[in-house]
Amino acid sequence: MNRPEITIEVAPELRLFVPSDYRAGHRPLATDGSSTLGHVVESLGVPLTEAGRLLVDGRQVPVSHVPGHGEHVEVLGVARPQQVPGAPLRFLLDVHLGTLARRLRLLGVDAAYENEDIGDPALAALSAKEQRVLLSRDRGLLRRREIWAGAYVYSDRPDDQLRDVLERFAPALAPWTRCTACNGPLKEADKDAVQEQLQQGTQRSYDVFAQCTACGRVYWRGAHHARLEAIVADALRSGRA
Ligand SMILES: [Zn+2]
Repeated sequence: MNRPEITIEVAPELRLFVPSDYRAGHRPLATDGSSTLGHVVESLGVPLTEAGRLLVDGRQVPVSHVPGHGEHVEVLGVARPQQVPGAPLRFLLDVHLGTLARRLRLLGVDAAYENEDIGDPALAALSAKEQRVLLSRDRGLLRRREIWAGAYVYSDRPDDQLRDVLERFAPALAPWTRCTACNGPLKEADKDAVQEQLQQGTQRSYDVFAQCTACGRVYWRGAHHARLEAIVADALRSGRA
């Protein structure tokens, strides 16, 4: 049986996913004649969450396209900012992305995060149920069919991760409106109402209070505030650029 042979070319930003043979440019690839292009791309190592348009001899095709002999396939990266159809933009982060989750919340971005490992099937199901974009550095997790939408997190450094997610999805920012501990919305809190949760020194020194409507945690302009201010200022500055 003749196996159809195609040539495949992967966008530079996706080359980290593919075997080194495929990084230099386009090269021949034998297919089985029945697999879809989506399957071929995944088999090369590229999560479909990271693939943008797929072109065959310059024409856009769906992931369901079955490549035929002699076709030249280009796999492009995702267009930025990426549009996620349907529900308001919200995220779900896997167990390894706690710092990124807290930073997104600091900026007011809805970022659910499980701080214990609930397992890939449960995470994927949660993404589907709550229509959240699943953020992960785990390619296997991003391959799961159930997920609503997903995105690979390219860096292991929280600064770069945050910049990447903000550039990719351009979420609306509303700093200081969300609980960094639990993702609940904050409301302004009256000092008297939250008095018993505050230490004496805090009562004297700080005047700005907010309280989480979900977990009750109280926020004020405390010791770490300068560092958090810098993260917020940086994000707002990048958003305007
Ligand atoms: Zn909370």
